[in-house]
Amino acid sequence: MYSMNSIDEIRGQFPALGQKVWGKPLVYLDNGATSQKPQCVIDLVDKMHCGANANVHRAMHKLSDDATALYEGAREKVRQFINAPARENIIFTSGTTASINLVASSFCRRFLGEGDEIIVSGDSHHSNIVPWQMACEAAGASIKVIPVLENGMWDMEAFRGLVGNKVKIVAVEHISNVLGIVNPVKEVIEVAHAHGIPVLVDGAQGIVHCKVDVQEMDCDFYAFSGHKIYAATGSGVLYGRQELLEKMPPYMGGGDMVDTVTFGKTTYAPLPLKFEAGTPNFIAQASLAPALEFAQSLREGEIARVIEAEERKIIAYLKEELQKIEGCTVYGLGWMQQEGAQEPVWGAPGSKIPLFSFNIEGCFPSDLAQLLDKMGVAVRTGLMCCEPLMTRFGVTSMVRVSFLPYNTFAEAEHFITSLHRAVRMLR
Ligand code: PMP
Repeated sequence: MYSMNSIDEIRGQFPALGQKVWGKPLVYLDNGATSQKPQCVIDLVDKMHCGANANVHRAMHKLSDDATALYEGAREKVRQFINAPARENIIFTSGTTASINLVASSFCRRFLGEGDEIIVSGDSHHSNIVPWQMACEAAGASIKVIPVLENGMWDMEAFRGLVGNKVKIVAVEHISNVLGIVNPVKEVIEVAHAHGIPVLVDGAQGIVHCKVDVQEMDCDFYAFSGHKIYAATGSGVLYGRQELLEKMPPYMGGGDMVDTVTFGKTTYAPLPLKFEAGTPNFIAQASLAPALEFAQSLREGEIARVIEAEERKIIAYLKEELQKIEGCTVYGLGWMQQEGAQEPVWGAPGSKIPLFSFNIEGCFPSDLAQLLDKMGVAVRTGLMCCEPLMTRFGVTSMVRVSFLPYNTFAEAEHFITSLHRAVRMLR
């Protein structure tokens, strides 16, 4: 375990945060897209490239044994991190997109038929829309959408109305990458399960900002990417309920996912390898072990309280300062949008994470981003892979800032000062 007592000590673990861009200290606020990497992850990747670099599960030699131990050790770490019952529940993939495609392809081949329906949430990332559309096209099924209210929360009344016996799976965002509100996934799961419908949760943002216990959540699938939670790029996870994974046909065919192969017939390896055809990105997957250990250490003891206090300050400050800017629309403020609304418990459904998307009248998002970049501030703009949500809010682009525990309140202040400068230059 890591012992860190301050945000500065956390920052000290991330070499990339110390750099300058355009001669200015980097203020990295694009964490919703990917996180920077702590030294422990960089060291593990180096160590494997310099030593334990051999294909996993394949050979009877020391290097392969070492790589396999690190790969399978990371699977155990993931299992503990999300409290999955067994290693059979943990499929390694290349990321959230691959995890959802796996379920959309394999689950739907087995369970989706003509006239059936799939429900997705209206704040879905393209990777939680397009794979289901592809499955629907193949089966002659259709997609239904949980509407997003003006404050960014789901219309749960409407969701209840959509659930029926034609629905074969519900696939929803744990936290939208545009709105940054913790969604009521547990409630969705309870409603869906009452009708015998399984639920997939896209946890690309959720895993980073919430403590996830898949047994407590009772989801059937939980998908996330390693690169957003400090691990190397190319790592990802699909948690699946074992009974369902057993019933689903393999996704890709190839090495490592087989039991016996003849030209007439192939039998498949037991879980989880049934879904891991070919050489996996074993170094990236192994990096999930130090990455999740690092994430875990930020969620325990005094440092967890320090981070929560800093994030609360950042959220309150950004909400207020953004709304002070003339012509600024901030999207999805959730409970903060309603006069006198009660703040939900920190991290519980309805609560806001330190992620804000906005537009400022008279300023193109891409112009703002370019000017901010020259001031050292990295933000995200564009559709953010959520075109239907952009359409819902009547825009084609937004600016997004997203924070991780290594970001400071001083960076939030620097961002606001820089934003004022950029707006003055554009107006
Ligand atoms: N879902 C959400 C909510 C995301 O934020 C992202 C990444 N922006 C994805 C899915 C896709 O993740 P990846 O590109 O790592 O597969």
